[in-house]
This record gives sequence, structure tokens and C-alpha cells, in this order.
Amino acid sequence: MMQIHQLLFRAAYLGMSREELWERLSRAERMLKECILCPRNCGVDRTSGEVGFCKTGNKPFVSSWGPHFGEETPLVGRFGSGTIFFGHCNLGCVFCQNWTISHLGEGEELSFERLAKIMVDLQGMGCHNINLVTPTHQMPMILHSLAIAVEKGLTLPIVYNCGGYESLEALKILRGIIDIYMPDFKYGDPMKALKCSKAKNYPERAKASLKEMHMQVGDLVMDRRGIAQRGLLVRHLVLPEDIAGTEEVMAFIAEEISKDTYLNIMDQYSPCYEASEHPPLNRKITREEYAAAVATARRRGLKRIDGLTDKAY
Ligand code: SF4
Repeated sequence: MMQIHQLLFRAAYLGMSREELWERLSRAERMLKECILCPRNCGVDRTSGEVGFCKTGNKPFVSSWGPHFGEETPLVGRFGSGTIFFGHCNLGCVFCQNWTISHLGEGEELSFERLAKIMVDLQGMGCHNINLVTPTHQMPMILHSLAIAVEKGLTLPIVYNCGGYESLEALKILRGIIDIYMPDFKYGDPMKALKCSKAKNYPERAKASLKEMHMQVGDLVMDRRGIAQRGLLVRHLVLPEDIAGTEEVMAFIAEEISKDTYLNIMDQYSPCYEASEHPPLNRKITREEYAAAVATARRRGLKRIDGLTDKAY
């Protein structure tokens, strides 16, 4: 059975020549010179020690890694998602649940070879994919390590698990390399995005990013085991008093991406980091707020919702 799956699905980057992969890496590394890797467009030269909003240099900076069983059902399977958490972030969410990693920069600088070995080791543990958590501001470093890992036998699909605040130029470099895009779509309203994540243009950038991602990989497809192999999976965290703008987000996904979009409408919001200073972010969501978000998605014709049955909501 395993052989049949392998025949049907093949990681995207395996169809790319070595030369093409390294050429993409060169293009990505050039973006670090006057950094435009994300919509903040800081313009700093990260190759000479300058840092921008994300406080990250030009080497892989990793917090932790390992098989992860708490991700979406199609990513986890039997042996887990091979998750690598990257340190720092290009967003500034006041409620971040991983704030010690994203805001305080918990983690360590690794060599490209070490990060490549981590990818290959996760494959050796039986993980079903390499899940890059918060990769946006480290994309060139990840590509560098990926190119090494491919030469060492990596064959797993790559999951780009990002905040949705992406540069189109960077995403275009990833075309034919990334198998599964898993962006957040956090806010429908620019002022909420400014207040909560210091990114007023988040909604417009997220919309453009989702379109590009969907154009590259299409709707999420799984193999016969139910393991995701390719496509788009969108996360939306429900926030108190509809700060996330669920109506706007679901309308966009349904009308301009696809009604077959695989969604994770997340209910786990809990006040972290500076959330207590920003009411109503200082409380969890209610069951009614979550049910209303799910109903909004369903009303828009979105039915592929992770972990939910029609009975539950
Ligand atoms: S990746 Fe970092 S330095 Fe580059 S534009 Fe984004 S926030 Fe600024």
C-alpha cells in the first residue's frame, strides 16, 4: 500500500532540478540584502548584521522540533507531523500563545547543515511531512537547508505553516517547492490587524497571499490514509467579540478562493502575552461565539472544517 501512495504523490520539490532549486535559493537570499521578505519591507541588510521588525539575522534560528500530534488531522496521521518551530516572527500579535519564541526569541542559531539533518531525522522518525512553523522571515535559510536535505534523501511533503502576512515575491520563489500551504487568516479588518498584530495591511496582504498559494497548490488533497499531500489549509482563530472579522474572512475564502477550502476554525483562544491589557482580548471566547463563527462558514458554503461534524455545530 505504501508503494501505491508513493506512486500517486510525490513531494513537489522532487520534480525540480538541483540547479533550479539552488537558483531559487539565490533569488531568496538576494531578498535579504534590503529585506523585503514580508510586507513590512524593512529594507535592512540582513546579510551584514542589520535586523528589522522580526529581529532575525541570516542563519536558521530554531526553537524546537519533533513529531507533533496536536496539528490538524490530515497532517498528523499515525506518526505525527515533523514540526520545526522557528524563532522570532514577522507579526507582532499582542495575544501570541508562543510569545516566548516569537517575541522573546527563545531558540538557537543553527547551521544550514544542522537544520537539514533535523529535516532528514524527522523523516527517519516516520513523520508524514516537514511542518515549518513561522517560516516567513527565515524562508531563504529554510530553502538553503532544504536543498541540502534533498541531497541527503528527504522526500516528505513540505508544510508552510505561516501567519498569512506574506510577500508575493517570496511566495513566487516557493512555487513548485511547497506542497501544503497552511496560512492563518487572522483578521478581516485593517484597524483590528493594526491594534492586535501591528500590521494594518494584514487583510489585503493575506488575501493576495491566499490567492497565490491556492493558485500554486489548489484545494487540499489527501492520500488513501487521509494524510494531506498537497493543497491549501487555512486556519482562522476565533477571537472575542468577533475581532477576527469572521464574516469577511469566510466570505473571501468562499467567493475568491474555493468553497472546497479545508479550514481549521480554531476555538482555543486564551489570553497570553499582553492580551490582558487589550480588552476584550483578556478573556476566552464563549461557546456561542465559536458556534457563530462555524455557522458563518457553513452559511458561506464552506463545509471542510477540521475536526467538526454537522452534529457538533
Ligand atoms: S522578514 Fe523581517 S526584516 Fe524582512 S521585511 Fe519582514 S519583518 Fe522586516
